[in-house]
Amino acid sequence: MRANDSRGRHTTTARVLLPLPQGGCLIDTPGMREVKLSGDEDVADAFEDIEALAVHCRFRDCGHGNEPGCAVRAALDEGVLDEARFLNYAKLRDEMEAAATSQAERKAEARVMGKALNKRLKDKYGRR
Ligand SMILES: [Zn+2]
Repeated sequence: MRANDSRGRHTTTARVLLPLPQGGCLIDTPGMREVKLSGDEDVADAFEDIEALAVHCRFRDCGHGNEPGCAVRAALDEGVLDEARFLNYAKLRDEMEAAATSQAERKAEARVMGKALNKRLKDKYGRR
């Protein structure tokens, strides 16, 4: 299971400038997101054993929390899988998901803005 579905579609993503309270700006660019996404592959590779266990979870989108039939939880309970290692994995996975979510939100936002702009242009120039 990988979160790389949006790979290769970054070229149209707008740049976002986030003003920082201590001054200056944080520039969030598609390029930086790409760096983070390519890091995700390392996460999957580094936690190959957990990924292999996750295949046996009942649900494909298992969060390895309280889901029934979770193979990762079972391995933790049996002591086969180290708890600290799992927590590291969960933390990195959460970060990956947060990055993917904020990217999807920005895309949706851009789509709404684009629609509103199109409508305004249509209202202004579309009627003859
Ligand atoms: Zn699971």
